[in-house]
Amino acid sequence: MQTPTIMTPPLLKANRHPFECPIELLERWVKINSESHNHAGVLTMQEEVSFELEALGFEVKWLHPENDSTGLPLVVGTIPGIVAEGINFICHSDTVHHSLDMPHELQKNGDYAVGPGVVDNKGGIITALLGIKNYLESLKKENKEPYYTLRFLCSPSEELGSPGLHRYFKEFTHDGFMALGFEPANEEGDIIESRKGNRWYNIQVTGHEAHAGRNHDKGVNAALELSQKLVELNQLTDYEKKITVSIGHLQTEKNKYNIVCGKASAKIDLRFADLKTRDEAELKIQGILATSELYNRDKSKTTEIKYWVEDDCPPFSKGQKSKYYLDLYKNLISDLEKRKIKSIAVGGAADSNYLNDYHMAIIDGLGPIGHGMHTKEETIYLPSLQSRSLALTRFLQKISQENYQ
Ligand SMILES: [Zn+2]
Repeated sequence: MQTPTIMTPPLLKANRHPFECPIELLERWVKINSESHNHAGVLTMQEEVSFELEALGFEVKWLHPENDSTGLPLVVGTIPGIVAEGINFICHSDTVHHSLDMPHELQKNGDYAVGPGVVDNKGGIITALLGIKNYLESLKKENKEPYYTLRFLCSPSEELGSPGLHRYFKEFTHDGFMALGFEPANEEGDIIESRKGNRWYNIQVTGHEAHAGRNHDKGVNAALELSQKLVELNQLTDYEKKITVSIGHLQTEKNKYNIVCGKASAKIDLRFADLKTRDEAELKIQGILATSELYNRDKSKTTEIKYWVEDDCPPFSKGQKSKYYLDLYKNLISDLEKRKIKSIAVGGAADSNYLNDYHMAIIDGLGPIGHGMHTKEETIYLPSLQSRSLALTRFLQKISQENYQ
């Protein structure tokens, strides 16, 4: 990994106190237009989050995305634990509202409130902050240090796929054992137990171009080689195993009739539900693309097949590692909200995907209850700010408890 650009966030304005009331903080943050492309607004949010983290005792660093000119940093707050092994908390400060004519105000209506980013993800950040705050205060009363290292990550560009940040996320899995994502819970209060992952392959086949009439036997057809490989790749699709292959794009070098095609390329999307399925599929894909099948007539020439992965998003699933924690978290919420809480599988990826690896446990959807994300009706159920943050506090207490002597 290249050395990241690390910055210490600028000091926040005077006369600012750390938040006491989560709804007041939400009101303040909804007024900040942090639509993904409004860099000044996103930066203000990153400063706000950094301020609250520092007030809680986090050491805050800003990491700049690789190959990205926006200058928008990933906020990384750390509180070292008794052990280096850590929990990654993931949330984001950018929102999706640029095309919506929506006032930057929190419009309250009883237990509900509407506003841009109110659950996706400003309410989520606040849930995480409040849960951690209460956890740290409870430790202080008992004169204890946090057992696990706490690492708080706030992306400036999740809605754009957090470009340039994936390698940092991967790095954070090395000393992590768990990631908790604060994307909103759905209207029923369900949390997220799994998200599919994807791997995008760009395949380039080079054959030997020849005139289709005069020199057919001298040519090796790249388009034919590629087509045969695509048929084989497509056979990896298995709906039972939740793995799909899609050919999204197919192209030859020249738009002509009278040639044996010399160059052809394709873009392939592979989707999978868990890491094991992904790795098995990867081996099969490597096998399929390792050998050329086509030759010219005297077998002196063949094709060359090159490919690379353009996007690599791990899945996370309710595996052995997650199940215990997931059940614990669900039970804690169920106790607090006096109703049964489910966990669900979601197709789309989020930053939490990039924090997965074989040794990790991942849970997402731990933010407040809401609906209408990315629309004018984006709504938060306000009491869930309290119940979900309290669930986080209890969860952190519970998983650390057994480790203290
Ligand atoms: Zn989100």
